[in-house]
Amino acid sequence: MRWSGQQLEAEAPGALPGLARVHGLVRTSRPPEFAGMTFYEVLAKSALNKVPGSVPGTPYAWTINPYRGCSHACVYCFARPTHRYLDFDDPGAFDAEVVVKVNVGDVLRTELAKPSWTRSPVALGTNTDPYQRAEGRYRLMPRVLEALADSGTPVSLLTKGTLLRRDLPLLARIAEHGPVDLAMSVAVFDPELQALVEPGTPTAAARLATVRAAREAGLECGVFLMPVLPYLTDTTAHLDAALAAIAEAGASYVVWTALHLKPGVRQWYLDWLHRHFPQHDAAYRRMYADGPYAPKAYRRWLAERIEPLLTKHGLRRGAVDDTTGTTRSRSAGIVQAVATAPQPTLF
Ligand code: SF4
Repeated sequence: MRWSGQQLEAEAPGALPGLARVHGLVRTSRPPEFAGMTFYEVLAKSALNKVPGSVPGTPYAWTINPYRGCSHACVYCFARPTHRYLDFDDPGAFDAEVVVKVNVGDVLRTELAKPSWTRSPVALGTNTDPYQRAEGRYRLMPRVLEALADSGTPVSLLTKGTLLRRDLPLLARIAEHGPVDLAMSVAVFDPELQALVEPGTPTAAARLATVRAAREAGLECGVFLMPVLPYLTDTTAHLDAALAAIAEAGASYVVWTALHLKPGVRQWYLDWLHRHFPQHDAAYRRMYADGPYAPKAYRRWLAERIEPLLTKHGLRRGAVDDTTGTTRSRSAGIVQAVATAPQPTLF
């Protein structure tokens, strides 16, 4: 569907109480197949977002988020507080009130056609998942990827969505001219726990099947085994089974880190923990008493547990881009070991 010719309906004051900052609203939609969700379809003025503090020409100075909000609904999602800027006060709104930039592909094409565009690598999946369920309805990503392919722009993409498989031919087209850095986020390999902590996501098995499909399409594709949840997913048995499955899927590399609990998600996660695993309340409050990161001693302990398992399963560590939290671009010529020090963002 092309959206460039759509007429803007009036943003009548009061039509959407509390959504004064959802600009360019075309309409709201509550499709019956997405129970409990509301989509705010908007005409975006821009598609490329400059990463704050980035230096032009360095990966990744630019990101694209076709959606704001994410129905994957991960309890630990660091992006949850970003909905506040849209005047959604309830942290749970991030999961159910999704802004859809229906014209993002067309706007992007215009931006990439400017003589000033230097084909700096672009990251997708930094703040919301571009392959969340809504993508099956709106099909924004093919036009985004076509625009990137036609302009010869390298891309890094991090997702939990299996719909990625649909667009592998387009990604392969981009890869003909420059690096494509794909990563699948799969952190929880216990199906019951996954349904509690990431209720809107595809199963781990389905995500790993997508990794395999990407590899078979000739693309590099890593796995973000993160966040590792203290007391819930950090047992040797869980990690060993996870890494065995990741290796079996043919993943190019693995990135891992322990849970971060930054302001805005901290209370949301701790409330969830209390509802489902109250036996761990006290331990978490101790661990995260001094800030958003797990204590150094825990991170060291986790490294000593995971690193031998990586070796056992013949997996190598990948690198995270510090500015975006997605895979570090090979276009920078850098593939380094991930520091065990805290990373600024997680998935
Ligand atoms: S962590 Fe990623 S997939 Fe999960 S809700 Fe946040 S943006 Fe979506």
